[in-house]
Amino acid sequence: MKVSFLNIKSINDCHRKELHAALDRVLDSGWLVLGKEVESFEREFAAYCGVEHCIGVGNGLEALHLVLRAWGVGAGDEVIVPSNTYIATWLAASYTGAVPVAVEPDPVTFNIDPARIEAAITPRTRAIVPVHLYGQSADMDAIMRIADKHGLKVLEDVAQAHGARYKGRRTGGLGHAAGFSFYPGKNLGALGDGGAVTTNDPLLADRIRVLRNYGSRIKYHNEVIGFNSRLDELQAAFLRVKLSTLDADNTRRQQIAAAYQSGLAGSELQLPAVPEWADPVWHLYVVRTRQREVLQQKLGTLGVGTLIHYPIPPHRQAAYVSLFSETSFPLAEAMADEVLSLPMGPHLTDVEVETVIRALRGSF
Ligand SMILES: *Cc1c(COP(=O)(O)O)cnc(C)c1O
Repeated sequence: MKVSFLNIKSINDCHRKELHAALDRVLDSGWLVLGKEVESFEREFAAYCGVEHCIGVGNGLEALHLVLRAWGVGAGDEVIVPSNTYIATWLAASYTGAVPVAVEPDPVTFNIDPARIEAAITPRTRAIVPVHLYGQSADMDAIMRIADKHGLKVLEDVAQAHGARYKGRRTGGLGHAAGFSFYPGKNLGALGDGGAVTTNDPLLADRIRVLRNYGSRIKYHNEVIGFNSRLDELQAAFLRVKLSTLDADNTRRQQIAAAYQSGLAGSELQLPAVPEWADPVWHLYVVRTRQREVLQQKLGTLGVGTLIHYPIPPHRQAAYVSLFSETSFPLAEAMADEVLSLPMGPHLTDVEVETVIRALRGSF
């Protein structure tokens, strides 16, 4: 039996009828950019996250970038980011002209370690961008305390954690603003690219609305040098369909994670650690082992698909080599060598989950 790492086709197949109806609705309206579907999705997703404002944008990277822009972050500034994250978190800072300053993770949760943040703060620091990595919230109270003390903004990167909670509160409303991605493989995935900013700050929300649309509030009147970064009507209509089952999908992910946690307990793998205040939505289920290469190969021959998130940390990418060739982040580097993501998603059946556990148990 083959178990695919992720099956986006089967996830979207469950919604086929509703997705077709959404397409028809948009076709019938004749309105394709910045219309009723985007407005409705923004209202519905803001309510879901428990925030005042949601602004649909082109993708997750743009969501992060536009918030930093709107805050006036730019050349000469520094933005604190995790050393182990998808490169988009760093690129958002770079887009503004600021320098990403990396902070190493807590080796148990893999999320940015609040205890290491203050040492990275300089007079140039403007913002902290914690990532709720793999679907589990960073320690936001600790991060907000540091930010308040130093007068910094906090931008949550929620690209992997739609619906996750921290001390009972939904991610996306825990900092000063948040950036979401609706890339097809995320917990809430569109049928193409999409993203959103959430915030309780009405002035920021207004600035993002202007920035995403050519710096314009009134057609052909451009207040600032803006961007073309809009969530389109079709993707918004699709996202409204998929938002209706996000909680159910996340619950299924939690069941699968629980099965992995108990089925793999006592094995040689380092399993994900969940602090008592976290309520993760398991975008990824990531184990850690020194025998990663061998294990991945063995699982492959047994038909179990796995991936590595991420094989090269941002500071080791060619894109950043000129900035960071002298710098080493040993925790991020060790993770890149040792992490392995197991099949995860609402599409997985109990039998498939059992197959993965048995394959892993037989691989040591
Ligand atoms: C996916 C992702 C992004 C970027 O989202 P896009 O929609 O692909 O631009 C940003 N940060 C993290 C942590 C991600 O996983």
